[in-house]
Amino acid sequence: MDGILLQTVEGLGEAPPLRTGGEIWELLQGEKEEVTRELLSEGPLCQGAMSGGQEVEASEENEREIEWRHRGQLEARLREINDAQDRLMDGAYGSCSDCGAAIGRDRLAADPAASLCITCQRSTEAEMVLSKL
Ligand SMILES: [Zn+2]
Repeated sequence: MDGILLQTVEGLGEAPPLRTGGEIWELLQGEKEEVTRELLSEGPLCQGAMSGGQEVEASEENEREIEWRHRGQLEARLREINDAQDRLMDGAYGSCSDCGAAIGRDRLAADPAASLCITCQRSTEAEMVLSKL
């Protein structure tokens, strides 16, 4: 009897630990709160526009652009997290939203909000680099 029990436990232990849906949700939720806090702490974007009418110095404009870009990144991240939570809900989590292939476990461990498999992610990044040229 004991032997059978041990075998079962060993069999289960072969697979690397996989996060449960609840754990992933918690991770995403935690990051979402962090990103939201950061977004809020930067204040509304229209602040600059409301004081407008005046000429802005080049350096200020530059700063604003950096802030804009940072905000854009935060908002994009928030969307990614929300998407991941949606996929978690409808059971599509872990599959590439582009080609449907399984996203590597390592990749999900590094970024629980990853929505693309490594192949699609690379081609998206390549496209982004090309579009900036
Ligand atoms: Zn893919």
